[in-house]
Amino acid sequence: MRLVMKFGGALMEDAEQIANSASLVADRAKKEDEIVVTVSAMGGVTDELIQMGENAKLGDMEKVRKMLSQLEKRHFEAARKLCTGTALEETSEKIRKLIETLNQCLTGVFLLRELTPRSKDLILSFGERLSAPLMRGALVSMGIKSIDLTGGEAGIITDSNYGNAKPLLNITEVMVKDRLMPILKAGVVPVVTGFIGQDQNGVVTTLGRGGSDYTATILASSLEVDEVWIWKDVDGIMTADPKIIKTAKTIPVLSYLEVMEMAYFGAKVLHPLTVTPVQERLIPIRIRSAYNPSNPGTLIREKSVPKPTVKAITAIRSMSIITTGGAGMIGVPSVVARVFATLSSNGINVAMISQSSSQANISMVVKNEELERALKALKIEFRNGDLIRDIHSIPDVAIVAIVGEGMRGTKGVAAKLFSAVANAGINILMISQGSSELNISFVIQEIDLNRAVEAIHAAFELDKMGENAPQAQEPHAT
Ligand code: ASP
Ligand code: MG
Repeated sequence: MRLVMKFGGALMEDAEQIANSASLVADRAKKEDEIVVTVSAMGGVTDELIQMGENAKLGDMEKVRKMLSQLEKRHFEAARKLCTGTALEETSEKIRKLIETLNQCLTGVFLLRELTPRSKDLILSFGERLSAPLMRGALVSMGIKSIDLTGGEAGIITDSNYGNAKPLLNITEVMVKDRLMPILKAGVVPVVTGFIGQDQNGVVTTLGRGGSDYTATILASSLEVDEVWIWKDVDGIMTADPKIIKTAKTIPVLSYLEVMEMAYFGAKVLHPLTVTPVQERLIPIRIRSAYNPSNPGTLIREKSVPKPTVKAITAIRSMSIITTGGAGMIGVPSVVARVFATLSSNGINVAMISQSSSQANISMVVKNEELERALKALKIEFRNGDLIRDIHSIPDVAIVAIVGEGMRGTKGVAAKLFSAVANAGINILMISQGSSELNISFVIQEIDLNRAVEAIHAAFELDKMGENAPQAQEPHAT
C-alpha cells in the first residue's frame, strides 16, 4: 500500500511525541508499505516565528535573540533524545545551520524594519524545516532509511500569493512524481515539510495556517496513493466540540463535501482546502488517533452515508451581524452588489448572508474584529443616505451550523432544529440554508451558544452516533 501520513504540531511537540509518531511510520514502513511523511512544526513554533518577525520589525532584537536561543535549545534537546550515532550528528548540524540562517533573516528584518509577506513566509518556513529533520533523524535511528525535504524540494510549486499560496497542480504533479518516486522505489521514507512550497522562481511560499493537511493531500494526489492518514491527538472528527458536549462522538464516515462544509463553518478539523486535491482521484482520507491507533477514527471519502441525516454541529464565535436597510434597496440589484464590493475591497470576509423577500434589508455576518471597519466603509460608500438609510449591527454573536448530506430532500430537519433551539429559550437572529441542503446555519447571541449546541446535539441524538451507522472499516493490515 502507498500512504501519505501527516503529523500535526501536537504530535511533533517534543521528543516523546515525535518518537511515538515515528514509530507509527516505522510500523508500516517495515511492512514494505511505501510511506511519505509530512510534518508540521513543533507545537506553537509557527506562532513564535510570527512573534519573532514582528519583534525584529519593531527593533526588539533582544527579545528575538532570547526566543531564537529557546527555539534552538528545544530542537537540539529533541535531537539528542531521538537520534543516535551519525543521525544525531547530521540532525544537530542541520539544526545549527537553520538557526544561523533564521538569525540572518531576522537581522535583515531588523535592519530594514520591514516585514513583507514574502519575508514572513520565509521566516515561517523555518518551523517545518526544523521539525522535518527531527522526524527523519528519529526514523533513521529506528533503522528506517529516510531523507528530509522541503515542500519545494519535494516538488510542490505554488503561485506567489505569499501567506496563502495555492499549488499549481499540473506542474506539481509532474515534479512531485519526479522527485519522490525514485526515493520511494529505493525503499526510503521521504519526510516532507508540511505547510510550505515554492513559487516558480524558487521563492519559499506558505499554504496558509494549518497548511500541512493540504500538503498531505497535494502529495497524495500527485503520487496517486491508496490513502492519506492524518494522525491526531483525538480519535477522529467529532459530532460537536467535546469541550461543550461531553457525550460528543467520533463520526465514522464523512463525505468530502461534508468535511469541506464543516471546515468552512469553523470546525477546526482540517485546512479548508484539504480535500480538494484528492477529490477527483477519490483517494480516501483517514483521521486517526496517534494515541489509540486501533481506533478506526473517521473515514473521509466521496460517498456519504445517508444516516444519520445530521452528522455534526459546528460553530463560529466572535462574529457580528450587520444589517443594511432602506427603500433604495428594493428592486435595485446594483445596491446589493455595491454592498458586497465595498466589503470585499476592504478585505472584509462575509461569512453568511440573508436578504428578506421584500428586499428592504440585507443582513451579513462578519468577524467582530472587522466590524468597525465594515461599518465605516459602508457609511462612506453610501454617504448620501438615499439608497441605504440605516446601517446597524449586533456584535458578539455566533453562527451555528448543522451539517449532513442526508438533509438533502429530508423533510422536518429544520423544524426539529428550530424547535430544539426554541425549547431551550434561545432567540434566533438570522437563518440561512444553502440550496445544496448540506447545511442549515443560523445566528444567535454568543452567550447562548453552549446551550444551543447541547439542545441540538440531544434533539438529533448525536450521542448515539456510530451505533447504527456503518463503522469505518479497519485499515488493511497488510
Ligand atoms: N505550522 C503551520 C501552522 O501552525 C502549519 C500546520 O501546522 O499545519 O499553521
Ligand atoms: Mg494543524
